[in-house]
Amino acid sequence: MRTIIEPFRIKSVEPLRQTTREERERYLAQAGYNLFLIDARNILIDLLTDSGTSAMSTEQWAAVMRGDESYAGSESFYRLKKVVDALTGFRHMVPAHQGRAAERILFAVMCKPGHIVPSNTHFDTTRANIEFNGARAVDLPLPEAADTQARLDFKGNMDVAALEALLEKEGAERVPLAMLTVTNNSGGGQPVSLANIEAVKRVCARHGVPLYLDACRFAENAWFIREREPGYQDWTPKRIAQKMFSFADGCTFSAKKDAFANIGGLLCSNDDRVFQQETNLLILTEGFPTYGGLAGRDLDAIAVGLEEVLDPDYLRYRIVSTGYLGRHIADRGVPIVEPPGGHAIYIDAARMLPHIPREQFPGHALAVELYRHAGIRGVEIGSLMFGEAARYELLRLAIPRRVYTQSHIDYVVEAILEVNERKQELRGFEIVDAPPFLRHFSARLRPV
Ligand SMILES: *Cc1c(COP(=O)(O)O)cnc(C)c1O
Repeated sequence: MRTIIEPFRIKSVEPLRQTTREERERYLAQAGYNLFLIDARNILIDLLTDSGTSAMSTEQWAAVMRGDESYAGSESFYRLKKVVDALTGFRHMVPAHQGRAAERILFAVMCKPGHIVPSNTHFDTTRANIEFNGARAVDLPLPEAADTQARLDFKGNMDVAALEALLEKEGAERVPLAMLTVTNNSGGGQPVSLANIEAVKRVCARHGVPLYLDACRFAENAWFIREREPGYQDWTPKRIAQKMFSFADGCTFSAKKDAFANIGGLLCSNDDRVFQQETNLLILTEGFPTYGGLAGRDLDAIAVGLEEVLDPDYLRYRIVSTGYLGRHIADRGVPIVEPPGGHAIYIDAARMLPHIPREQFPGHALAVELYRHAGIRGVEIGSLMFGEAARYELLRLAIPRRVYTQSHIDYVVEAILEVNERKQELRGFEIVDAPPFLRHFSARLRPV
């Protein structure tokens, strides 16, 4: 059989609420045309993020009931630790309430003012936590990746020559660690090859710099390696993931992504001294090291999710279904970041709406129109989010894991193609009122 189906059936359903176009017009006006300010009950298909929005499985809900809520030495912690040990091989692991909490602790321990932390591309919370500690976050993506239309197998790779040059120029003593984000979220959800991870590790090792993975989508990355990198076609996703982790000295992880959990994070390290300092900080803000800001039941849900996510049937469906949305719009003339990534499709709004200047936020104009037309929520990743620093004008449609069926996605495809038919009618936006930072969350806008 060639048809790839959702590898699950549905036991518990959550009704979707239809709204009329007039109602959506009103909600938009009330929200100052900011989709973050629209209540979730007024959204039909919510593609704002894949973070914390996964559907948990029957086994995860069963694990929730098994959760041991002891303050210290909880059974849930040991169940999670066993799974993480077998997967990553790192010597130490602590939970945290989400990925950015792990980042905050890691960089508080490792970074000093004047330090530099290179990455293929830092995620925004990662960059913010590095900069909060006075260090500089440097992105070293492949130069070819700047072209949204370039179809590279591993477009998320780090530019290894640029890393080498940075270490020679700045001196390794100014670089407390290097990072690789797998998959490369801010770079379009594009994967990183094992060859690249190994090459980055070799350069880091030669300079005595530890390598950390920002491992939020490690399983999706492992599947891309199995599909695209010669030599791994017969490997299980788990074995590939183990090999990815084997090149690293530690990792940060948001369980809201590839662990199907609604909350949670992890911080892992092989360094005894660093880990001791991390544990001291963890107790200050997150909690005792065997729960790290989570309930015992969350730890159990994460433990089960980390095993489920490596199921080949799930990963095949996941990557194929994201590509399904991408191909169905791109092959009918909607420009996307090519090739489709693992967790999201990014529409290149600057290309689609060349009549809207970037100061008038083409990605946001498209986001608003998609909501007005069909009740679908995506998020602008462009000049509204990043201001002057924006490199692209994108609309991101992130796909929650195991939540929507193919007919939901067919509806999204139809809506996008209908908006594309009359794209000349779309108009830009201007900001009426915005806070001084992270303005996209609460700014109010109006059509120009
Ligand atoms: C989501 C994410 C984070 C932060 O995790 P949170 O759980 O949202 O705090 C860090 N890095 C990447 C690549 C992410 O996608």
